[in-house]
Order: sequence, then structure tokens, then C-alpha cells
Amino acid sequence: MLNQNNRNTGSINHQSAFLLIIVAAVLFSVIDLSAQVTGGPGDLWAAKWKGDKKAALAITFDDGYLSQFENARPILNQFGLKASFYVMPDFLTDSLPGIWRYGTWAMFQAMSLEGHEIGSHSLTHPHMTELEAGDTLTPGTILYELYFSKAKIDNRITNQECITFAYPFAEHNRLVDSLTSLVYESARANGDTINPASPGFEQWYSLSAMEVIFDEPRNSPEDDLDELTELQNWIDSLISTGKWSTLLGHEVVPFDSIQNTPTRYPYSNEWFTGLCSWLKLKSDEQKLWIETLGNITKYIRERDSYSYEVLAADENSINLRLTDNLNDEIYNYPLTVFIKVPGNWNYALLLQGDRVDTLTAFTNDSGRVVLADIIPDGGEVSLYRMNITSVEDDVIANNFVLYQNYPNPFNPSTKIKFTIQTAGASLLKFAQLKVYDILGKEVATLINKQLTPGDYEVKFNAAGLPSGVYFYRLYAGEFSAIKKMLLLK
Ligand SMILES: [Zn+2]
Repeated sequence: MLNQNNRNTGSINHQSAFLLIIVAAVLFSVIDLSAQVTGGPGDLWAAKWKGDKKAALAITFDDGYLSQFENARPILNQFGLKASFYVMPDFLTDSLPGIWRYGTWAMFQAMSLEGHEIGSHSLTHPHMTELEAGDTLTPGTILYELYFSKAKIDNRITNQECITFAYPFAEHNRLVDSLTSLVYESARANGDTINPASPGFEQWYSLSAMEVIFDEPRNSPEDDLDELTELQNWIDSLISTGKWSTLLGHEVVPFDSIQNTPTRYPYSNEWFTGLCSWLKLKSDEQKLWIETLGNITKYIRERDSYSYEVLAADENSINLRLTDNLNDEIYNYPLTVFIKVPGNWNYALLLQGDRVDTLTAFTNDSGRVVLADIIPDGGEVSLYRMNITSVEDDVIANNFVLYQNYPNPFNPSTKIKFTIQTAGASLLKFAQLKVYDILGKEVATLINKQLTPGDYEVKFNAAGLPSGVYFYRLYAGEFSAIKKMLLLK
């Protein structure tokens, strides 16, 4: 528009050019706002971070030590936290005793299967900035170190692809960065600066990481508490920026082994447990998304490159497609999106491929929405309005248990088990087990009578029903529980 104006008037003076820019800026901000407020059902936008949390943090460990498996792993798993482990393939062995303090392949394979990331820290931990660029055939060159460390990790860790790199000694320069970008999706260096929410190219290959430096003396666990407080303050400030960062650690050992641990600034088990329990709290409060560096990398790139198309939308269902221009073999991480739904929706069922999710609608500044996790290019997404008033998974009520049907998905029949327990006032309970379709319409009554406490199994035959998602709900006394099942014909 500005260009056309310029052509028509030939030349314009500075004052009117300034006015035009102001008008354009106002116009754009109005358009930008109205796009979110007046969007129709199916219109969507990505949350900055997974689950709409405020900021993101990756916990990373370097060098592939045995103590990471023995000590860091159980602490992380205790709090359900995932971390990234940067290993040098040439230093990992097939069995113990290993090389010096390094671990074995089996250890890092086990952690990979638990959802931790195994990234590359080069083959031999050289000073990368002192090497020649070289090529993938010449040992001792930058490209050889980058390429073969990934190849060897991919060969051993088969349930995930190695996509991120940590520079040995955190040393890198522009040449190292650009060669790293040929092999990896992102790379971590060092430093206490916070990473931008949308890194540019250079920032993707010089991601910062906070390393905790423990002051001497370290005679008792209390001596390390000031470093815990400092780190917590730093993470709180990270949360307030809405950005992300990473934490860099090496070994994790029992406190009384600290003095015998020759590697950089080991964490004690006690200290790391304190940190993880605090991080878990921040995560549960929806303030901090804690994920591997690889998954945060995937999320940001997907969030910054997606587009979508609403294929169909009416008052009961929405069909849409979410796509990006990224490599689907790597970029298949669920992206959290707000999706606009009609104003009278309370619950929605989401289907994508064989994934089924139940969502609760809520109202925010943009109107009625659901928060959904969608895999870009992971297939068409269908949302259905649900009329039922509550959906809960794995309900264990006071006096009965409703189990998941088996088989599931099923065709055409499946079995539903439940247990009525003796706890409660009356021994005889009035029980009802009903099946509903996706719109909440009752399609079958399987039980409708008084039952004594005990285990029950009911067969449900759906021969006359179409493929789709169904719900079964058990009422017993004043309690009820509901579960979903999938009929695939
Ligand atoms: Zn290192």
C-alpha cells in the first residue's frame, strides 16, 4: 500500500510519509486484534509454550557419566522431569567397567526409552575452534566430529533421533556454528543469558546454559543452599520474561562423595532433589514447562512456522488441518493451540490419527476456546461437541472402580469390567451402565439393576452402530464414572 501511494504521488514530503506510517501502524494493530476476537469456530493460534505455561527450561547434562544414570536419572524420574544428556559415543562402552567415569550404552538407551534426550557432545570432546572444517571422511576435523557422533548415537539410540549438539568446553565460533547447522537442529553453548522465545539462526547455534558454580567450602549440604536460592531466583526471573533457557550440569553424586568427584561442579543428590522438587512445583503451577532441549527446539520451530485450514465447521463439529514446512520425521511434537469453538460448547472430543483427547472449553479474551495438543502434519483434526457434563479418566470413586474396556479399539464387541466395593452404607447398590455416542445420545443400557459388591464383566456388542468414539458411564449409588472407547469397523 505504501509503495502504491509512492508511485501515484511521485514523491511525498516527510511529514505525510510520517503520517502514513502512523496510519498503517494503527490499521495493522486493529486488524491484528480483530483477527483473534472475531475468528470463527476452528480458528486457532499457538500458545507460546506447551500447555500455555509461562516459560520453558531444559535440564541438560554433559559428558555421559555413569553417575548421571545412577543418581540423576532416579531423581528426575521421581518428579517426572525429562532431561537432555550429551554424550561422546567414543567414550561409552558396552559394559562395565567402562572408561574412567563414563557410562555404558545400555544406560543411555534405558534413559532414552524413559523419555530423556540423548544428544551429541562430539565424538572425542576436542576444542572445536582449533580444528579444520574438514569433511565427514577425515577424522579430527569439525565435520567428522559433528557427523559421526550423530551417526553413532542414531545407530545405538533407535527410539529417537539425535538432533541437538552441545559444544565441548562450550567453545564455538561462526565457522563451528554454521557447520553444526548442517547436522543438528540446535546447539547449546554456555552463559547465563536467557534465550529468546523465537531464536534467530545465530541464536539457535549459540543457546545459552546456566552452569551452577558451587563455592568452597562444601563441607555439608547446607553449604550449597545459597546456590540453590540463587538458581531459584534466576529461574523466577526467567519465568517473568516468558522466554526459555537451559541448565548445564555434569555429575550428580551423594554429598559425601563430592570431595572425591574430580569433574566440574558436581551436584549432590540432596541438592538436585531439592531443585527438582521445586521445579516440579513450578511446572504444576503452570509457570514453567520443563522439557528436553530437543523437544523445546521442535516446539518453537513448529510454533513459528505453522499454518492451518478449517475444512468444515458447524455447531457440533470442526474439522481442520495444521501444517508446517518442516521435516515431518523430526518435527512431530504436539503443538499447543487455542481453538475457537461455538459459544455453547462445554466439552469437546479431539481426534487426530489414533489419538483421542477430551477437552474442556473455557472463555478468555478471544471468546470460547479449547486448548488442544496437535501434531503438525499429523493428519486431519476433528473436534466434536460433547453434551455430557463431565469426563474423567481413571476414576476411582469411593465405592467402585470402572476399568477400561478390552479390546479397545474394538469391532464389533468389547468387554467392560467394573468392581463394586463393600465400603459404603448399603450392601445392595443400584447400578446403571449406559453407552453414549459422541453427541451424548444414549445408544445402549448394559446394566440397570441392584447389584451386590463384587467384580462384574459386561459384553457390549456394537454390530449395529457406526465407527466412532463412544462413552460408557457407570452409576452406582450416588457416584458415576465415565470412560471412552473407540469402535473401528
Ligand atoms: Zn564436556
